[in-house]
Amino acid sequence: MTLRLHNSLTRRTEDFVPRDPARVTMYVCGPTVYNYVHIGNARPYVVFGLLSRLLRRLYPNVVYARNITDVDDKINAAAKAAGVPIDQITTGFTTAYQEDMARLGADAPDVAPHATAHIPQIIAMSQRLIESGHAYAAEGHVLFDVSSYPAYGALSGRSTDDMIAGARVEVAPYKKNPADFVLWKPSTPDLPGWDSPWGRGRPGWHIECSAMAEAHLGETIDIHAGGNDLMFPHHENEIAQSTCAHGGRLFAKYWLHNGMLTFNGKKMSKSLGNVMVLHELLQKHPPEVLRYLLLKAHYRQPLDWSDSTLKQARTTLDGWYGVLRDLADIEAVAGGAPVPAEIDAALLDDLNTPEAFAALSRLADAARAAATPEAKRAAKAALLSAADLLGLLQQTPDAWFKHSVSGVDIDGAEVERLVEERAAAKKVKDFAAADRIRMRLQDMGVAIEDTPQGTRWKIQNDDERAA
Ligand code: AMP
Ligand code: ZN
Repeated sequence: MTLRLHNSLTRRTEDFVPRDPARVTMYVCGPTVYNYVHIGNARPYVVFGLLSRLLRRLYPNVVYARNITDVDDKINAAAKAAGVPIDQITTGFTTAYQEDMARLGADAPDVAPHATAHIPQIIAMSQRLIESGHAYAAEGHVLFDVSSYPAYGALSGRSTDDMIAGARVEVAPYKKNPADFVLWKPSTPDLPGWDSPWGRGRPGWHIECSAMAEAHLGETIDIHAGGNDLMFPHHENEIAQSTCAHGGRLFAKYWLHNGMLTFNGKKMSKSLGNVMVLHELLQKHPPEVLRYLLLKAHYRQPLDWSDSTLKQARTTLDGWYGVLRDLADIEAVAGGAPVPAEIDAALLDDLNTPEAFAALSRLADAARAAATPEAKRAAKAALLSAADLLGLLQQTPDAWFKHSVSGVDIDGAEVERLVEERAAAKKVKDFAAADRIRMRLQDMGVAIEDTPQGTRWKIQNDDERAA
């Protein structure tokens, strides 16, 4: 089976053919670490992390780089506002980001380069661009000369006029052309800075990614990815810098862009102030609910965030974990069966996760309906292998149903004791006592269900509690 990917550069879905199948390379633009990331920021890392998983199934050696942007004016402003040193901001939020990504099951990259660790490479690339006539120094700045690269704008499909209009806010006297963008800029003594041929200064954002991609992946990479809000100017500028610094050689063969996560129809973004902070969501919801939601829509489509989709995600996962709970006595593990072909086929088709989830539901239905122990074992193993590839159903059903949501903290041992006490009361037909215990459990936020296999309990969700 062939992996097919939608390439933003050609605007077509193409067969993925790596330049060198013995070393497949992917670069994903990482976050600027001045704050906790929001749930929208997590979308590219979950989606393209899943792509890294698929690539590793197909190729023996995949190098996935996901950078950390740790020098930026927003970081400087955040440190100033908090009255703390800059590295306290960047170190703290880098760690939080990496931990939150791990909890979401977003695949870790092979390399996580920090911009501040690549200043010599950034300076060297800027120098090469000046020497080859693609950049110029002016008043302590180095600027990329957009007129020196006629293909500028090819990725985003913008005309030069559009780009100039977009860049006009930045018009500065030292620019030859309003669309020229900064590779290096001067720093005042209170700001982070490094010595350079143009005086003490710091890099622009775009050149950081070009230099880090070159340092870790080489001149030409197979896949470059990020959110579609980065297509212009960030990715357009990366292409211009890298192509010109490499004598016109191709920078990235496939460009992948995820759609935006929206909230009430508007892009979730810190500047609009409509963000749901991932770190906080992870305290309230099981990570798999958030992961499922981020993968529920096709990655190129917009994805609207709402309480109702959150509840629906929880219900879907409750259903799948319910199947596993019914089959708890059947011995089967992820990897006990190959990943079902329909799951592979869906994912290889430009990461069609909605189709993969539809297939996962069919596998859950088949497992629920299986009649013989052998059929149950096979169906459970297929369901677990499929879910494992998608990064779901990673817990035991017991742990899942007892997850404390909405800050309700439940003493599991106490619940078990009450459930047993209630069973004993029912046995001696003391139904009044049994009902009292059920009410008490309900007040604690625990729902119970009597089944032929005995009494089960789970933490109520918000709806059940409100009812
Ligand atoms: P930033 O730190 O702003 O560079 O963002 C980190 C990553 O999150 C980039 O790949 C952005 O394209 C992506 N991103 C930002 N906002 C959203 C959003 N609302 N939905 C999806 N991706 C986003
Ligand atoms: Zn980048």
